[in-house]
Amino acid sequence: MPTRTYRPIHIGTLASGTGLLLPVHEIRGDRPGPTVGISAGIHGEEATGVEIVYQFLKTQDLAGLAGRLLVMPVANPFSYAAVSRGTPIDMMNLNRVFPGNAGGHLTEQIAHKMVEDFLKQLDVYVDLHAGGSTPTVDYVYIINAEQLSRAFGSRLLYRPKETLNGTSISVTRELGIRSVVVELGGGRVDQREYVARGIAGLLNILRTVEVLPGKATPPPAQTVLREIVTVRPHHGGLLLPEVTAVGGEVRGGQVLGRVVSPYSMEELEVIRCPFERGVVVLTHLVPSVVEPGIYGFMIGNLSSAEG
Ligand SMILES: [Zn+2]
Repeated sequence: MPTRTYRPIHIGTLASGTGLLLPVHEIRGDRPGPTVGISAGIHGEEATGVEIVYQFLKTQDLAGLAGRLLVMPVANPFSYAAVSRGTPIDMMNLNRVFPGNAGGHLTEQIAHKMVEDFLKQLDVYVDLHAGGSTPTVDYVYIINAEQLSRAFGSRLLYRPKETLNGTSISVTRELGIRSVVVELGGGRVDQREYVARGIAGLLNILRTVEVLPGKATPPPAQTVLREIVTVRPHHGGLLLPEVTAVGGEVRGGQVLGRVVSPYSMEELEVIRCPFERGVVVLTHLVPSVVEPGIYGFMIGNLSSAEG
């Protein structure tokens, strides 16, 4: 059976006197093979990815593993504890400051350590994101390993024109590490379905790179989007979503949701589909309190999609 070791990375000490650690679990197989890294919680409020990794490590014995897995369940513990996208203290977004800076702000120090002591050791990297506290999301990025992105098994994929600067995968791509970014789950709804899909997706990627024995399951019919627009409200208040299925098709001008004032009872904003033929990539499944500029909806353009 594979051996498991807990090898946290030490970042430093907080003013409260507690140490700030990045958790890393190493699972070593009995046969040679590549090193596969999995991270979650780079964005602390995206708790579903953390739960996927927790349940993955708890429920899977990983018998027959080749090579090794390096699993970082919570890449930004301080931000996870605060249920915050930014790191408390400097409020920086960890996934915009890679490759980090050893002498920089706390978030930059975390990024630097994560690159040096985790990412640089990998041959394959899977980074788990989610929709956060209120929205729910469901797609996988194609970065530089299309077969692995497809193997996760989501129906929607996204091939961006360029990699966003400062993300962990901007580093791994540069290093030639095959990388997959997953966006799955989130919102104020039962997450069990997403957690189960997350575990199945990770196992299927591990079978595809042949570090786990067994045949990989072929992916379902998949759509590759080339354009996704994030629709952000201009007004805060109570968002009443009218599209409440991720993956559903929407038409040009169709109402996605309305922001209303629970104070004056006025309708403040009507949010509509920006594409003639769209598909819902992120939405709010239930009414939610929102601020202006948040992730309201993400809509993929089906007219420019592949396949
Ligand atoms: Zn994220």
